[in-house]
Amino acid sequence: MTKTDTSKENSTLFHAQSIDKSVEMLKTNLSSGLSENEAQQRLSTYGPNQLKAHNRKSIFKMFLAQLQDALIYVLFAAVVITMFMGEYLDGIIIIIVILINATLGVVQEIRAGNAIEALRKMATPKALVKRDNQVKEIGSEDVVPGDIVILDAGRYIPADLRLVESANLQIDESALTGESVAAEKDASAVFSEDYIPLGDRVNLAYMSTLVTYGRGIGVVTGTGTNTEVGKIADILSQDSETKTPLEVRLDQLGKTLGKAALAICVLIFIISFFQGRDLTEMFLTSVSLAVAAIPEGLAAIVAVVLSIGVTKMAKQNAIIKRLPAVETLGSVNIVCSDKTGTLTQNKMTVQEFFTFTDKTQKVEDQSDLSAEAHLLSSAMVLASDATLENGDSTGDPTEIALLQLADDLKIDRAALSSSQPRIDEKAFDSNRKMMSTLHQQEDKFVIYAKGAIDSIILKCKHIVEDGEIIPLTETHKTILSDAADAMSDKALRTLAVAYKPLEKQIDTENFERNLVMIGVVGMIDPPREEVKDAIATAKEAGISTIMITGDHKNTALAIAKELGIASKRSEATTGAAINNMSREELESHIEEYKVFARVSPEHKVNIVKAFRAKGNIVSMTGDGVNDAPSLNAADIGVAMGIEGTDVAKNASDMILADDNFSTIIAAIEQGRNIYNNIKKSVIFLLACNVGEVITMLVAIGVGLPIPLIATQLLWINLLTDTLPAVALGMDPGDKDVMKEKPRPLNDNFFSHGAGRRVILAGILMGILTIVAFVSGYYLHGYSPFADNIPENIEEYARTLAFLTIIGCQLFYSFSFRHEYKSIFRIGFFSNKYLFGSVVVGLLLQLIVLYVPFMTEAFKLQAVGIKEWLGVFVLSIIPLLANEVVKVFTRRKIQ
Ligand code: ATP
Repeated sequence: MTKTDTSKENSTLFHAQSIDKSVEMLKTNLSSGLSENEAQQRLSTYGPNQLKAHNRKSIFKMFLAQLQDALIYVLFAAVVITMFMGEYLDGIIIIIVILINATLGVVQEIRAGNAIEALRKMATPKALVKRDNQVKEIGSEDVVPGDIVILDAGRYIPADLRLVESANLQIDESALTGESVAAEKDASAVFSEDYIPLGDRVNLAYMSTLVTYGRGIGVVTGTGTNTEVGKIADILSQDSETKTPLEVRLDQLGKTLGKAALAICVLIFIISFFQGRDLTEMFLTSVSLAVAAIPEGLAAIVAVVLSIGVTKMAKQNAIIKRLPAVETLGSVNIVCSDKTGTLTQNKMTVQEFFTFTDKTQKVEDQSDLSAEAHLLSSAMVLASDATLENGDSTGDPTEIALLQLADDLKIDRAALSSSQPRIDEKAFDSNRKMMSTLHQQEDKFVIYAKGAIDSIILKCKHIVEDGEIIPLTETHKTILSDAADAMSDKALRTLAVAYKPLEKQIDTENFERNLVMIGVVGMIDPPREEVKDAIATAKEAGISTIMITGDHKNTALAIAKELGIASKRSEATTGAAINNMSREELESHIEEYKVFARVSPEHKVNIVKAFRAKGNIVSMTGDGVNDAPSLNAADIGVAMGIEGTDVAKNASDMILADDNFSTIIAAIEQGRNIYNNIKKSVIFLLACNVGEVITMLVAIGVGLPIPLIATQLLWINLLTDTLPAVALGMDPGDKDVMKEKPRPLNDNFFSHGAGRRVILAGILMGILTIVAFVSGYYLHGYSPFADNIPENIEEYARTLAFLTIIGCQLFYSFSFRHEYKSIFRIGFFSNKYLFGSVVVGLLLQLIVLYVPFMTEAFKLQAVGIKEWLGVFVLSIIPLLANEVVKVFTRRKIQ
């Protein structure tokens, strides 16, 4: 088979081929699948099964993009002019500093891009294939033509397929055809015409569409770009880069502040003009100040801090799918969670059962089984899809527990299944809360149906007691529900089973009618150990935990009480009660409830909407096919990584790799910390920029010589805009962050006095720098306002100003680690990146000051210990001043 002939086959033929012919054309084997060797060979022939990857920008392009800024162009022009005037060294230094800055920008961009790419990979769906006679889960990019793919509800179709088996298979093809109603598939169909619309080819399934119901098997006819979806160009460009709302807001803020900085630079230039200063020098200085002071890097810092944060979150099992979710996470105040598997361990064991003959019995006490107990357990086994062999199990834990029950009761499951083979089924769905199967028993038939008691009882007209089928009476209903309530009150999860003997085979629609109730089992599903603490942490953080479950109200409430979610009965309600409420009623009562039992996915959407209507920020978990709408409706949709379907994952903002409730709370904590870290970086950057602008504006305004020259300004920008700013963004989380209330979603970065702090800190840094500058003159007996000051004295004064402003900025960065906790309490070393970057910053100062070439290049003068001491004293003032302000802030908070 060559590459070209598959594409031809793929585009026209497979829907018009029989299953056997298709399998033959694709050179594969239906019962054993491809061999691993053959699959590897095909993978190298056809390439990975992915739509053309988003073209990543080349490093060179990224580098150019860093320089594409009107101001940088102006600066380059100014440099060229300076060089023409003979100031080669200045020009070269400026170019080098700009190039280093751009390189660091590229490094940050690549790191952020890699982190996001790694996350995207973690969230890509897996495919279930048969190879070497074994069913295995592989990454969907490894699927090759000829692979046998197994489909079940909730899964993505990994490649284009010719179906070879379909059991009530329905596929949502809206991504491809725009048709919103799921297409019913039929593997046995063969078409005679070549050209029929894609949507009508019921024997094919297409890459990127979703199974919404039923089961099926298909053989891969085309992969990657050689699929129907691969041919649609605009779907390929869907994953274009998007900015988070925070990045967009900061971009705008950067632009506004940038304009202000630019205006000030123009003002400085105009003042200098009237003061009769050297205009070429002033032009270069003003442009450099603009480049240094314009906070163009705000959004870039957000991207870096976000990517560092989400990588850390992924290691803790919370995979962020949409970056803006991180920002929203910190504001969540309601966490709606499923019960089974998320709050509980999903390790079920049947403890008790009830039949009308036996009444309630403990499983461990059984030696002599009644016929009804035998029927109950057999029916549960026959109506299950799970497997359990030699301790290894697959499938739904509820069903695995039922298989284990049969083993405990010494029922031979293999003999049972072969004497009553399954011939048809009506799959489980969480709206009906039941499933049923049709079996052949010699020349007769039997239906077995298992599910929630309240669903099954509605379908029953009879019960079986002491070997007799008798009509179901109100008394029976009371006995049954009392037995079930007694189990539920002990936090046992209940499941009922019914059956119906038949003479003739019937259609699936008629399966669940006139059934005979057999009885109920009660299984324990212990709460996860760590969840209780997580719920308590959440409570302290102002976050309410809400349990939403398909399970019985009493079972749900018993577990909710054990976990500390609810304390009284009135806090629990049911899906049926919600049905009787109008939207307004639901909204006005919603905050009274902590437990929603017996709900279906539709209720979930209404619950989320009602909570949101009351101004809450809601996170909602989901795993099933029908959970997508509620995940979309929530502020943060959370899908289960293990039990969750591809549909739920696709609709979510975050995936829990361990399906654990505690991970949601840990993610909220991370979300809060990441937001705080971004805020620290941004406020720090702005405070530094204000400091630089104030220094220049005030000095020039009062007629002093220029305190910092162009190269020095750019160097300052290089030093503080990169290392300390990123290091602040990597600050380890504050352990008390979960003692605070959730942050309002529209909270401004500059609220709580942060804006004031930026301005005051900037002014203080400016004043201290000017003090250092001026004292440089006086220490040598000159007035800075005098004429004909020797050049070395000017350089000496500038050196002091240069060291002071950098010192102020580096030391001040420590103060940003917490808004009101003292740095002496948090410790200087607990953020080793920040400590490291301050040390590196200071070392670089030593280099520019004492390596002769550098000293000359930056027009500095080496200084002695006395000067260093003076600079140190001035430099720690902003840090100490801020610590004093914190004392007052703390008093106000307490
Ligand atoms: P949660 O919503 O907290 O995950 P859940 O598993 O109870 O809990 P669903 O999966 O929607 O939620 O199930 C709803 C009900 O359907 C269950 O309480 C149970 O009575 C019934 N049920 C669950 N699994 C099966 C199954 N495999 N076969 C038949 N009935 C089932």
